[in-house]
Amino acid sequence: MLIVFIGPPGAGKGTQCRRLVELFDIPHLSTGEMLRAVMEQDTALSRYVASYINAGKLAPDHLVMRIVSQKIKSPDCAKGALFDGFPRTMVQAQMLDDLLTELKRPLDVVLELRVPDEVLITRLLKRAKIDGRADDNDSTIRERLRVFHEQTKPLVQYYGAQGKLRSVDGTESELDVLATLCPL
Ligand code: AMP
Repeated sequence: MLIVFIGPPGAGKGTQCRRLVELFDIPHLSTGEMLRAVMEQDTALSRYVASYINAGKLAPDHLVMRIVSQKIKSPDCAKGALFDGFPRTMVQAQMLDDLLTELKRPLDVVLELRVPDEVLITRLLKRAKIDGRADDNDSTIRERLRVFHEQTKPLVQYYGAQGKLRSVDGTESELDVLATLCPL
């Protein structure tokens, strides 16, 4: 089971992903978490990654692909995986297609959570107070939303054309969203 989860920052992807991985018993591959783990070290690479993330920019495609392709080939992912926050650009989506073709493991479904920008901004500012994430401040939040619309939103059409997309209203309650994502 290979699932891609697309949604703007603050759409509630993390929460839904935690429930979905339990349901399907597959690993949760969050590229945001993987990149934050890289940033915790004190190396040239961690400073390079931080320069993108802390400015609300996307990390370079080749770097993200290297991390993802190592993970997906690991034994943990033999049964599948849930990609959270990846792919985020058309280049990443095409590179993922190539990788999965090479591995003979097609993507099963692409889930999209839709939430209006005003709701996202309110949620992210609230999260900033609770988690203290360096990339959750007013200007980076706006930049991340701009980047989402410009670079990630086109994936909705890309996967729609492949017949793999399921879009869900992310303003509903957590359980309603889950029920729509995974109808019984
Ligand atoms: P997230 O935790 O998914 O909101 O990601 C936090 C930040 O990590 C993003 O704003 C990007 O700077 C970076 N990031 C996460 N996933 C990707 C990706 N697939 N491609 C490029 N940058 C990413």
